[in-house]
Amino acid sequence: MFKAIALFSGGLDSMLAAELVRRQNIDVLCLTYTTPFFNAQKAQAASRQINLPLEVEDITTTHLKMLKSPRYGYGKNMNPCIDCHTLMLQIAGERMKKSGFDFIITGEVLGQRPMSQNKQSLYVVAKNSGYPDYILRPLSAQLLEPIKAERENLIDRSKLLFIQGRGRKDQIKLAADFGIVKYAPPAGGCLLTDPMFTKRLRDLFSHQEDHDIHDLDLLKYGRHFRADDQGKIIVGRNNSDNENLRELSTDDDIVLFMADFPGPHVVIPHGIIALLPFAAALCVRYSDAPSDSEANVIYQHKKLSNIIKSKSVAKEDCEKWVI
Ligand code: SF4
Repeated sequence: MFKAIALFSGGLDSMLAAELVRRQNIDVLCLTYTTPFFNAQKAQAASRQINLPLEVEDITTTHLKMLKSPRYGYGKNMNPCIDCHTLMLQIAGERMKKSGFDFIITGEVLGQRPMSQNKQSLYVVAKNSGYPDYILRPLSAQLLEPIKAERENLIDRSKLLFIQGRGRKDQIKLAADFGIVKYAPPAGGCLLTDPMFTKRLRDLFSHQEDHDIHDLDLLKYGRHFRADDQGKIIVGRNNSDNENLRELSTDDDIVLFMADFPGPHVVIPHGIIALLPFAAALCVRYSDAPSDSEANVIYQHKKLSNIIKSKSVAKEDCEKWVI
């Protein structure tokens, strides 16, 4: 029996591509990746639904390296889609060779995304991955050059499809034919396409060369303030931010919260003591404490707790330092 690896985002197109190949009696293993910018949740739900095995691989280190200087640049935000796809295919290709798979499947559809899924981009991505003759796009295969597996009749090209463009009609009909009833809306799920996240990520890259996964995870929550080149302060905006910041903070960070009033969870990553007065003033500003008098703010660092008295920071200072 022939074997294929499906690069599997969990979106409808990736489900259809994998299912189309499985229906030709080919063993399909789904492969999805995680980084601080996207996770495997959608792929996990989708693979369960179509009952295919899924492997999840954390590619943070190689993805970060690529993200800092992508050969083909960024999309509208900080999304280096062409280089990202190339990297994903390259990793899938290495796995294919190592484990004796015959080819790789993707759910890409010709012309669906004007920049990253035109004929030229699909070709460039496949070529740069190092595995151009092994990458099958089942949904558009009949519009593309046949790959080795098609030429050698491992798979019947006549049963592959010729979908192109941005419309979803063909995919929705195929999903119904395959009995796939639940699927996520297209796109979404990658923080590198989010303008606000991108702004914070650019700020982090430009101020802190030695950032780690913790710094990247903290970018997902709260309001972020940059205090000159000293460091940054993060202020929870709501209960969910507060909860997430609480979970993410480590003993190295300084965390602050109000002693006597409801208020935000505030974090100074890497425990920069010089930022304590500003962080306390921000904590008061976004709390229910009166704005014109001092309030008690609890701060914790390296398992020790203390209290600092602070007034609210002026609105202009907030606006000046917010990222
Ligand atoms: S949207 Fe994000 S995950 Fe998808 S190719 Fe672009 S950078 Fe990679």
